[in-house]
Amino acid sequence: MEAVSPRGSEGVERSAPTGPRRLRVALAGNPNAGKTTLFNNLTGGRQRVGNYPGVTVERKEGVRVHGGIRLQVVDLPGTYSLTAYTEDEIVARDFVIDAHPDVVVDIVDASNLERNLYLAVQLLELGVPMVVALNMSDVAAARGYAIDLAKLSALLGDVPLVPTVGHRREGMGSLLDAIVAVGTGAHRVRRVPIAYGWEVENEVEKLAALLEPEADALAPREPAWVALKLVEGDSRVRDLVWAQCAGAKGILEAAEASVRHLEGVFGDSPETVIADRRYGFISGACQEAVRRTAESRHEMSDRIDALLTHPVLGLPIFLGLMYLVFWATFRLGEWPMRWLEAGFGRLGAAVSGLWPAGSESALESLLVDGVIGGVGGVIVFLPNILILFLAIAILEDSGYMARAAFIMDRWMHKIGLHGKSFIPMLIGFGCTVPAILATRVLESRRDRLTTMLVLPLMSCGARLPIYTLLISAFFAERLRAPVLWGIYVVGIAAAAGLVKLLRSTLFRGEATPFVMELPPYRMPTVRSAAIHMGVRGSLYLRKAGTLILGASVCMWALTSYPKPPAGALAAAEGVSRASALDYSVAGRVGQALEPVTRPLGFDGRVNTAMLGAFAAKEVFVADMGIVFSLGSGSARARHGAEANLRLRERLRETYTPLQGVSIMLFCLLGFPCMATVAVMWSESGSAKWMLLQWGGLTVFAYTVCLLVYQVGRLAGLGTR
Ligand code: GDP
Ligand code: MG
Repeated sequence: MEAVSPRGSEGVERSAPTGPRRLRVALAGNPNAGKTTLFNNLTGGRQRVGNYPGVTVERKEGVRVHGGIRLQVVDLPGTYSLTAYTEDEIVARDFVIDAHPDVVVDIVDASNLERNLYLAVQLLELGVPMVVALNMSDVAAARGYAIDLAKLSALLGDVPLVPTVGHRREGMGSLLDAIVAVGTGAHRVRRVPIAYGWEVENEVEKLAALLEPEADALAPREPAWVALKLVEGDSRVRDLVWAQCAGAKGILEAAEASVRHLEGVFGDSPETVIADRRYGFISGACQEAVRRTAESRHEMSDRIDALLTHPVLGLPIFLGLMYLVFWATFRLGEWPMRWLEAGFGRLGAAVSGLWPAGSESALESLLVDGVIGGVGGVIVFLPNILILFLAIAILEDSGYMARAAFIMDRWMHKIGLHGKSFIPMLIGFGCTVPAILATRVLESRRDRLTTMLVLPLMSCGARLPIYTLLISAFFAERLRAPVLWGIYVVGIAAAAGLVKLLRSTLFRGEATPFVMELPPYRMPTVRSAAIHMGVRGSLYLRKAGTLILGASVCMWALTSYPKPPAGALAAAEGVSRASALDYSVAGRVGQALEPVTRPLGFDGRVNTAMLGAFAAKEVFVADMGIVFSLGSGSARARHGAEANLRLRERLRETYTPLQGVSIMLFCLLGFPCMATVAVMWSESGSAKWMLLQWGGLTVFAYTVCLLVYQVGRLAGLGTR
């Protein structure tokens, strides 16, 4: 930044002789604006310490010779304003008025311009010769503030503005030049043209007219300033008038009348109205003269944060937003999901139509049941996944996700995790795979492993079709939402419990202290949100195209071979498919596992479908369709709404709601899918963690389902 200050000599003469002229310079400024730093820069630390006359506030004085002029520099107490509320404010104001320094240097924190200019504006109201040092201009630049010095100076009555960087001694020459120019009268500063509003100005003018005859008694205070202060209700100025003015009584009565009149007009104290006008003036000036680049949204961010990270309101706002995200995911995703379902149904029918009806072609069955049915069954969830990922991308890009972590930190700490763990957990509701990748935001490996291990308990999108099928089969309309909600809550509670367990066993130790930068809020760009969504969406599609395609073909083979001997296929086709399944590898494994899973309420058919869910959870639904041999011929691909309805009926006839709950819990808690296993392996860096996760969760699921089913049966819930 180039200083806007009058030209002057750059020469700095430390040992110049004491010239005939000397200037008294006062440094004012907000606390922490860098006053002491600049004071030391200007005086070279050669300073005297004393007290202001009459008060015990410390006063520092130093001397600097510049351009042949001796500058006596006084450091005023740091204040935010010149109202008479604190001792420091009174000292600063009285010094500026009574000691009438030749130049007042207001040191302004340029990175916090609006707030700091409040004092500057009040000094300008006093009509003192002034220079503004825009200190911390390095910080301001780093935050992306570009200040148009010429324009801002013009708006502030041509006051010289000198950018400085105190701790690097930058801008000191220009500052000294400006001080000399203003102090010697070479440069004149105009009174700052704040519009207090017609009503206020009218009252001030009336009082100023009354004060005019007393100007000598009030000097060096100007009548207009005294009038303004009387309207503001400044008690010290009132005392001054009372002590100095001959016509004090009449003046103070008039002032009181003015105040009452303005209170009536504004419904607020004139003091507040005038302060608002000053802030409005500053805000307008900054609007004109300060350009904000992308990095400078801190101030607005602070204001938004006051609401979004509010200790009481923060959590409900967060929960509300999450509700909105899930609502959008499932409700808005419903339509495209139906179109995709219909599309895959038609594709399956078209492919199937290439073969004569009733043919026993293995290729037809592979294509329609294995490939289209399996992959299609996964791709239909793509809209939900994309919407969820889009919502997460928007929350991340806007900066809200960091706040969510901040809000959740308190709760996460209760179970021994870092607030940041919350982000992967949230993503886990979409899909565990990107969630495990997202644990990279955690610095501590202990936190990271703990989080990764319990992530599959955040019920992912792929499990939703299982719940939808079973809940609508076993529960009345009014119970469906609460049951679904309950399932999610069980997952979250289980995760919390397991984290606590891991924290007191494998990963003992202090939780890392919470240090989280809150980035400024930004408008998420379409481009970036689309990229995020695209990357995650394609990850999901690749999973569908590779892992799930493979698993689906495997599952098809396992459910189709070996074929039963031809003679066994005499009965109706539905029955024949079921018995063919019984005969196949998957059917036999399912049956063989019956003794193991019977205590959980599963039978051989559920076991068989569960084998598919090992590959990917969503395969379970399709496999239940096969197991119950719905429709004729290609069961999976013709899995339209009608088939779904019949599947539900069959389930209701075959199992009890208690069994349904047990199945859902097992799908929720047990055996992470193959994609999770693969990512867990690579991200944790060892098969050990992957196996611990897989085995641990499966044993955990088994235990929970055993308890639920057995206790439920004892309680008499096992009936239909
Ligand atoms: P005072 O409270 O007004 O007296 O402010 P100080 O002079 O004590 O400064 C407060 C802090 O800000 C100190 O750590 C200084 O080193 C630092 N500081 C002063 N000027 C600048 C500046 O221009 N840029 C930066 N980044 N820091 C500064
Ligand atoms: Mg200081």
